[in-house]
Amino acid sequence: MEEQNKIRIKKKNESPILENKKFILYWMQAYRRFESNHAFDYAVHLAKKYDKELVVYEGLRSDYPYSSERLHKFILEGFRDNAKEATRLGINYWPFVETKTKPGRGLLKKVSKDACAIVSDDFPCFIIPEQNQKLANKVECAYFVVDGNSCIPLSHFPKPASAARILRPWIHKAFGNYFPYRAKSSYSKRELAKLNKGTKAPFEPYVPEQMDSTISNIIFKEHVGIARDMEGGRIAGLKKLNEFVKSKLALYLEGRSNPNPPEFTATSGLSAYLHFGYISSEELVEASLGSDWTVESLHKKKPGDRETFYSNKNSTNHFLDELLTWREIGYLFFWDKPEFGKNLTHLPDWVKKNMEKHKKDRREFNYTLEEWESAKTHDDLWNAAQIELVKTGRLHNYMRMLWGKKIIEWSPTYEYAFETMEYLNHKYAYDGRNPNSYSGLLWCFGLFDRPWFPERNVFGNIRYMSSDSTKRKFKMQKYLEYTNELSKI
Ligand SMILES: Cc1cc2nc3c(=O)[nH]c(=O)nc-3n(C[C@H](O)[C@H](O)[C@H](O)COP(=O)(O)OP(=O)(O)OC[C@H]3O[C@@H](n4cnc5c(N)ncnc54)[C@H](O)[C@@H]3O)c2cc1C
Repeated sequence: MEEQNKIRIKKKNESPILENKKFILYWMQAYRRFESNHAFDYAVHLAKKYDKELVVYEGLRSDYPYSSERLHKFILEGFRDNAKEATRLGINYWPFVETKTKPGRGLLKKVSKDACAIVSDDFPCFIIPEQNQKLANKVECAYFVVDGNSCIPLSHFPKPASAARILRPWIHKAFGNYFPYRAKSSYSKRELAKLNKGTKAPFEPYVPEQMDSTISNIIFKEHVGIARDMEGGRIAGLKKLNEFVKSKLALYLEGRSNPNPPEFTATSGLSAYLHFGYISSEELVEASLGSDWTVESLHKKKPGDRETFYSNKNSTNHFLDELLTWREIGYLFFWDKPEFGKNLTHLPDWVKKNMEKHKKDRREFNYTLEEWESAKTHDDLWNAAQIELVKTGRLHNYMRMLWGKKIIEWSPTYEYAFETMEYLNHKYAYDGRNPNSYSGLLWCFGLFDRPWFPERNVFGNIRYMSSDSTKRKFKMQKYLEYTNELSKI
């Protein structure tokens, strides 16, 4: 285990590694892949160190918040890829999917009974921090969580950053020290098959060929159907990454913000694949910098300069700035307070003062959740964005900002607006329930931003956005035609 990566590992309980037990268990919760995965690397390391079997358990409950056919299918397509890869590499992989007839309650305790130690993912959001703590408190063996969230371990940073311009130089200064120690990109069959002693799972493993019948045997929390053109899993994620690097990365700087149908949008479309851990941010960095890039190519004399730091290509620098600075700022914000996000209390003081001053401002429109959800506002751009979200599970980044700002403007209170945004984003977006969901939603309220002038109704000094200026700034025709077609599905 490299020195640089020890900072990624945390022990969640006081229990020892039980050398008399059978295997090291990797509980795959957030990073659903075997390659480029720091937690999996650590589990392999422990199995080799203690000369034990390695078991990988991937489970899917049906009762998590916002569970739906849309999310389940995307996750089960990941199970399918993992099952194939586990067979190819000889890994002892135990997939479990909860259904009406196969309840999951108490299963993890059973699975952990013969574990010397458990390794899992240190993802700072949604139900995962609580699940980790609960199991760590219950089991008799050591419980480790590993931060494989990004290229730089989150514990490297002394505190959260209040703005991207503050975090950017911190990241630039650390990047060259950590990136050479990224997770292992792949294993050979010889390395892993030796760790499989064939111990059987204490349950009937899920069979990927039965995906449709499994889905029909589940009671979901939400009724959200699948999106036609979204396929989950690592193979689909890698394919998207390759296409992006080949044909869109060079256009990223110019084209990123233009609202367009996905085929004409110059972004990667990879946020859902990052969220479900099908692909790592280290892999995205490596692919976008290319094989002839080395750490020596970094422009280290200019930490904080987003135009030049990583590469000589401006578009690549901008892509990496979104992926590293903007993605990381949200993860870091949650790192020490994973419960954060349930309300607006952690917004900066200037925002809170603003909200106090403007909370009673007259709202020109006041929509109910039903009206928001069914895209029945007076504003054609807002409705188009909502239709894209509902029908495809995605939302173009620029439209996402406008979408959030308008919910604030046309809701009776700030709290109601936040709850509406959180519900719609988490229910429909494939990439929802992520630290970047909250950093994005709260950015609309002024988080990581600065005061803007003139002071306005409802917003005060929080940045304002309007549909009219969006129409002036971009040609919206294609996007509106695209969402109009979507509305007919
Ligand atoms: C109201 C609102 C809600 C949002 N909700 C989510 C969410 O639920 N999940 C989510 O992952 N992102 C969210 N974002 C951030 C951003 O919109 C998406 O990450 C981005 O649009 C994803 O598209 P992409 O993968 O094509 O990004 P690309 O432009 O290709 O960027 C590559 C990766 O960098 C990261 N990234 C890019 N832009 C941002 C950004 N502005 N903030 C944080 N990370 C970024 C993402 O991981 C993304 O996949 C939200 C933003 C707003 C304003």
